[in-house]
Amino acid sequence: MELSEALENYIKEIYELEEVKGQAKVTDLILAFQVSPGTISKALDRLESLGLITRSNRKLKLTDDGRKIAERLIRSHRLSERLLTDVIGVDWIRAHEIAHRLEHIWPDDVLDKIDAILGFPSTCPHGHPIPGRMKIPTGKLLSEVNEGEYKVVMIVKEEEWILRNMEMLGIKPGETIKLLKKDEDKFIVQINGKINEITKTLADQVVVNV
Ligand SMILES: [Zn+2]
Repeated sequence: MELSEALENYIKEIYELEEVKGQAKVTDLILAFQVSPGTISKALDRLESLGLITRSNRKLKLTDDGRKIAERLIRSHRLSERLLTDVIGVDWIRAHEIAHRLEHIWPDDVLDKIDAILGFPSTCPHGHPIPGRMKIPTGKLLSEVNEGEYKVVMIVKEEEWILRNMEMLGIKPGETIKLLKKDEDKFIVQINGKINEITKTLADQVVVNV
């Protein structure tokens, strides 16, 4: 099925909302894409008529066909990111931006070759699982755990300001992070021997293993 890039992006966003929040709502899409309710509604009509989503009470659900398309796109996005960071040496902020374009272009057989070159990675550089390889990692937000030592599993949102802060602090999937002290909005953390203070907003963006 040939879909426009815009429709592909909506499907992918619905999938990712389900992954992070457990469900997707029309209002989430309006917020994420900064488009009018009318535009979203037209796109959703189209996706529904193609049998890719179902709608009830402003909640959206992917059908099996919709899920397949979303998983293919997300696999393509996350493998593109890995290719850019691991092979080409692009930083993880630009890798995410460029992958938004690359994800739509790879034919399946080329994507499989990229996957093989990368050694069949299980996650993107930000820790998000590559569909078909592993389940959504279990863990807790750094803002929700008690003082102690953890491994960073995933950065929740791949937004530039978040990734820039994480980079500066050395918070990356696989790194060990010590939560030394937590107050209302202040989290004292230690990474690689360096002690830093981070806000709850940032601590909300880090998933650690528990
Ligand atoms: Zn990523």
